[in-house]
Amino acid sequence: MKAIRRFTVRTVVPEQIGALPRLATNLRWSWHVPTRQLFESLDPALWEQAHHDPLAMLAAISREQLQALAQDPAVVARVEDAERSLTQYLSEPRWYQSLGAQAPQSIAYFSPEFGITEVLPQYSGGLGILAGDHLKTASDVGVPLTGVGLLYQAGYFKQSLSEDAWQKETYPLLDPDALPLTLLREEDGTPAILSLPLPEGRVLHAHIWRADVGRVPLLLLDSNVAQNDDAARGVTDRLYGGGGDHRLAQELLLGMGGVKALRIHARLTGTPAPEVFHTNEGHAGFLGIERIRELMDPALTSVPLSFNEALTAGRASTVFTTHTPVPAGIDRFPRGMIEYFFAGELAPGVPVDRILALGAENYDGGDPEVFNMAVMGLRLAQRANGVAKLHGVVSREMFSGLWPGFDHQDIPITSVTNGVHVPTWVDPQLAAMARERFGTDVLDGPDWSKVYDVSDADVWALRRRLRSALVADARRRLRSSWKKRGAADAQLAWTDAALDPDVLTIGFARRVPTYKRLTLMLRDPARLKALLLHPKHPIQLVIAGKSHPADDAGKKMIQDLVQFTDDPEVRHRIVFLPNYDIAMARTLFPGCDVWLNNPLRPLEACGTSGMKAAINGSLNLSVMDGWWDEHYDGENGWAIPTANRGTSDAERDDIESAALYELLENQVAPRFYGDVVSAAAGAAGPSQPQGDGLPSHWISMIRHTLAHLGPAVSAERMVKEYVQRLYQPAAVAGREAHAHDYASAREFAAWIESVRSAWGGVHIEHVESHGLADEPQIGQSLQVRANVHLAGLSPAEVSVLVKYGKVAENDELIDTRTLAMESATDLGGGRYQFAADLLIDRSGSFGYGVQVLPRHAAMASPAELGLTTTA
Ligand SMILES: *Cc1c(COP(=O)(O)O)cnc(C)c1O
Repeated sequence: MKAIRRFTVRTVVPEQIGALPRLATNLRWSWHVPTRQLFESLDPALWEQAHHDPLAMLAAISREQLQALAQDPAVVARVEDAERSLTQYLSEPRWYQSLGAQAPQSIAYFSPEFGITEVLPQYSGGLGILAGDHLKTASDVGVPLTGVGLLYQAGYFKQSLSEDAWQKETYPLLDPDALPLTLLREEDGTPAILSLPLPEGRVLHAHIWRADVGRVPLLLLDSNVAQNDDAARGVTDRLYGGGGDHRLAQELLLGMGGVKALRIHARLTGTPAPEVFHTNEGHAGFLGIERIRELMDPALTSVPLSFNEALTAGRASTVFTTHTPVPAGIDRFPRGMIEYFFAGELAPGVPVDRILALGAENYDGGDPEVFNMAVMGLRLAQRANGVAKLHGVVSREMFSGLWPGFDHQDIPITSVTNGVHVPTWVDPQLAAMARERFGTDVLDGPDWSKVYDVSDADVWALRRRLRSALVADARRRLRSSWKKRGAADAQLAWTDAALDPDVLTIGFARRVPTYKRLTLMLRDPARLKALLLHPKHPIQLVIAGKSHPADDAGKKMIQDLVQFTDDPEVRHRIVFLPNYDIAMARTLFPGCDVWLNNPLRPLEACGTSGMKAAINGSLNLSVMDGWWDEHYDGENGWAIPTANRGTSDAERDDIESAALYELLENQVAPRFYGDVVSAAAGAAGPSQPQGDGLPSHWISMIRHTLAHLGPAVSAERMVKEYVQRLYQPAAVAGREAHAHDYASAREFAAWIESVRSAWGGVHIEHVESHGLADEPQIGQSLQVRANVHLAGLSPAEVSVLVKYGKVAENDELIDTRTLAMESATDLGGGRYQFAADLLIDRSGSFGYGVQVLPRHAAMASPAELGLTTTA
């Protein structure tokens, strides 16, 4: 019989240890080792059974056992300590509190996925883990952030393998009552509910669950409510499930519903309204439409704004982060679908054609039938960024169609390189070493340069412990995977000897879209086999990754790889572990000596798994893509060279895989084993290093990695950059726009309209320069004059710039610098002469050009309006 109703009865915990439910519900436990240790110590066996989930553990623990624990003064004291620590953590001033009252009061952070802990499986990969790390770090440094996402009933799928190595997906349903979540309720106790009007009179309702991520609340919208029809209930069924309509409904709920959820949360808890809205990738972009709707609504604003005014006001306080240069990573919907959803009451008062225009690909190469969420994201945000320096460059090029006439480097998309939450990802043993030797907790940013004082022997012994832990975990997972594939225990004794805690261990784990090239290592199977079985310098590989359920090419890659690992000759040296998730990752990163990353450059926007490896003293072996492109320094790992552009796909993979084998065989493995092949002639097994028996060069690379990469890749650096470079300026611009009933937003919007209509007439009539001798020399100055017709605009409304620098063969200026031409002389008839003197400060080919741009104090970038005129 099926249950007609299910609910979860929460344990009643005796008063003496009454803080346990609070400790289990605030997700700080997921990165706070002492709190985890407390739960583990209550009943180590049950802790294992409950898969390290404090709430599941409390639900499973018997009443008698709880009574007994409550009578144990040592337990009571530990619980009290833990609660005191949590209370202090939640309230003490941190870095953000030193910024003063000008810092934003509240920031909303929208993301379709959040990877915080394996206990809350609401993520598929890097985007979600990054969002989780962003919230945790915001909490650590005191940023008043509120996360907004969806609560998927099944989250992302669980992966297992069939006998013939094909990926199988299952979607176990989650019971929100059994998760570390609290349902947001009205004062009378009924669940708070938000509604989105859909076409044909339907309504999409959602409840709001709150997860507490340290001091950061995360609001998760759940459409599985009784008020909904079946289709609406299914909107939040699974992460990135379905296509078309289903996906669009999810994104409308996330963006527009998310803003409504924030309003309800503010009303019920008294928290301030967000001053900044940050959208993590385009999926949540409809938040901008909801904010425009609010600003245009006569019931909400004393003097309602026009569409242009509302757009201007909303953009001022919105930050958009783009995460992918891979077209498949960007959501695009048929225009007609957007039109259909907005034809009804979803955004009353907001003209549908204006919404459509926000997502239009009206540039060279664009598809007129498509509504592009990333393009809308850029148009709805005054500030935007990519997630690594190289990704910034790639994004400026990729979206250059939105800023026609601009040099790519002037396109207003900056970059903030991603980072990782160190307390989550650093292994507890390494954290303990930091605490003992450096005297600080990882949360307080230990000075990792003190690692230079730790002896070679201690570093190497720690690495071996971490590697051994991985080997043990991998054996367990391997056996369980084989059992699911149909093997009997009697056939699986070999798994207990798979992998070797003394062999150079290389990790590769990530989602399996084709561009990440999971199977590049298989390009020459005989060569890989020889590396695995090398008599002196063997390597072993631990591999994991999920393929998107609809991606058969990815599943085929997994199959090819797993079938290679099934070979009895190599299966003790290469393993594939199914169901990659946060729990596996936390043992995997620290346990690997080398982290391998071989995407197709430049398609990896940033990549964070290599950062997580690095903060554990693993060395990276990676294509110069994403974060590695800016952080590789020759002593923290290895760079896999990239084939020249223009080579065929097959040739490119041949070249890059050959380079990979070459590096492994001649650089990586010999160095790991101590540079010198010293084992007695003919002896089998890994060679032993000479001297003190330790590979000193390798160990020095570990120290260098911890000391230098550690701070650079930490999410603390990232979040502080977001605050200083994006959130604070966005809050200032948002306040300015808001002041006096949006007076300046109205003025700015009107100005934009007038400039747009005048701009067609703005042109540079004449440019001349004087002052140079026949043979120009460094130190001479050049007087540049430009006569510009301003078509009714005043000189104060434009910037006229001289750009100068080297001239390339195609006459393009390179290494350019910019000088503003300030002094303007009225020539009459709307014409002005602008002048500047520029100093010739380098030899070689020299050239200059003149550019006119609109200018207004409320603009965040001169390129913002996409208007320019050049001579
Ligand atoms: C870090 C992480 C990712 C993202 O890895 P990339 O290198 O950015 O692709 C995906 N899944 C899990 C479980 C992770 O921990």
